[in-house]
Amino acid sequence: MKMMKIGFIGTGVMGNAICLHLIQAGHQLYVYNRTKSKANNLISRGAIWCTTPQEVTEAVDLVFTMVGFPSDVEKVYFGKNGILSASVNKKYLVDMTTSKPQLAQKIAATGNKKGALVLDAPVSGGDLGAKNGTLTIMVGGSKDAYKELNPIFKDFGKQIHYFGLPGSGQNTKMANQIMIAGTMTGMTECLVYAQKAGLDLEAVLKTLGGGSAANWSLTNYGPRILKKDYTPGFFSKHFLKDLRIALETAEEMNINLPATAEAKKLYEILVDKKHLGDLGTQGLIKLWWK
Ligand code: NAP
Repeated sequence: MKMMKIGFIGTGVMGNAICLHLIQAGHQLYVYNRTKSKANNLISRGAIWCTTPQEVTEAVDLVFTMVGFPSDVEKVYFGKNGILSASVNKKYLVDMTTSKPQLAQKIAATGNKKGALVLDAPVSGGDLGAKNGTLTIMVGGSKDAYKELNPIFKDFGKQIHYFGLPGSGQNTKMANQIMIAGTMTGMTECLVYAQKAGLDLEAVLKTLGGGSAANWSLTNYGPRILKKDYTPGFFSKHFLKDLRIALETAEEMNINLPATAEAKKLYEILVDKKHLGDLGTQGLIKLWWK
């Protein structure tokens, strides 16, 4: 793949790590983030700072966005000096934020009218997957854009799959988050129970991680909990956002997901009531442990 001028908007936990892989692969990056200091490490490695999403878009062939919430996505695409205020004809626009399927469809419809090739491409694999360049990427939207950009996705992803129409990447990510709702609540209650029973928790993690209870949350977040490390990883406030999107979308599809609804209630207590949304998702155990 020839080297490209790539724009990147949202250089937080995930975006920053992905940018480092893109720089390492030899691409010229143009970056913008709400808080400039979070892009300083990229600027010192040759990335060019831009002052608005529009300025980023004017400078490049391909724009990635990886911001926090759907409202942030709305702002960077449709807001004043947003991406869609720039001339986007024949440019690639790829949103990797975990966001609403309907919003992905709206970006695709508006972008396509202006000649852009649009993808929704949320990821899974956590902060470690981003650092190690081993993310899973779930893609919806233009099939041509997916084929063209596949070599670039490979700079930071391992499992990359195309699911079809705009929004289908986000729907796949919602299916992923419904699964994670089970593993996070399961891991948390497993540790609460094991501690109360007086078990050696390190031995519990090691033993269960080798049997049929093995899962990513247990392997990656279990040890962080035992070290009292509640730094994000993956912010609890973002996981609550995802559970809300999944349940709203499920309601529109007339399906009932009671276990996911229960997980949402627990994260609402953590985030909205206890104001601990900036903790990593493993912070859920604080509803039991002081
Ligand atoms: P993060 O660290 O908060 O990064 C988001 C970045 O976007 C922040 O630096 C934020 O700026 C910036 N931003 C927000 N609104 C903006 C705007 N209007 N203009 C410019 N910049 C804006 O969060 P993250 O962990 O990287 O997650 C990003 C997205 O990926 C979320 O949707 C999350 O659900 C999803 N995700 C996360 C993980 C994970 O394990 N962390 C895994 C998969 C998917 P500030 O610096 O000013 O806050």
